[in-house]
Amino acid sequence: MSGEHVLQRPIYGGVFGEDGGYSLASVPCVSRGLHATRYMVIQAKAGVVLSISEDKALALERARVRILAANDSHHLQPQSAVQGELWPEEALLTAPAPQTQYVSRRRKAIYDSSAGKCHYCGRALDLSGNWHVEHQLPRALGGGDDTLNLVAACVRCNLSKNDSTAIEFVTRKVGG
Ligand SMILES: [Zn+2]
Repeated sequence: MSGEHVLQRPIYGGVFGEDGGYSLASVPCVSRGLHATRYMVIQAKAGVVLSISEDKALALERARVRILAANDSHHLQPQSAVQGELWPEEALLTAPAPQTQYVSRRRKAIYDSSAGKCHYCGRALDLSGNWHVEHQLPRALGGGDDTLNLVAACVRCNLSKNDSTAIEFVTRKVGG
């Protein structure tokens, strides 16, 4: 979303959750010439942005849905499924994609928990298309393969995020 300028660093407040693991941040910005606010729910310790929205209630609701989905997948996934080579299908993206590309259950779960949209810019993604599983806190910075750390991202956001954390990226480029 070009034409957006962040006016100041995020304002953190409203710590909540058992052990205060989550906080609500607001980012004042100028969007299309108007002063606007983006809300994001952050899991601070993991450096993860759970949701981004112009609407505070919507940001909280989306974060709640993602946390519940993550809890579900922890419940369903055997531990072995989150170890080793996680995304063998990523290598296939350089080859012409067949019409009915196999989508792993875990990749589908990440797609669903991101509501079928790029986590950062909100662009709709094709489930079997070319989108990235994105580590919000990069592995290089100690980010894990925890479901909450993984989101769907479009190619453009994935490439421009590089090794920055999700919080840095969202703050630099609010709304994607
Ligand atoms: Zn995007």
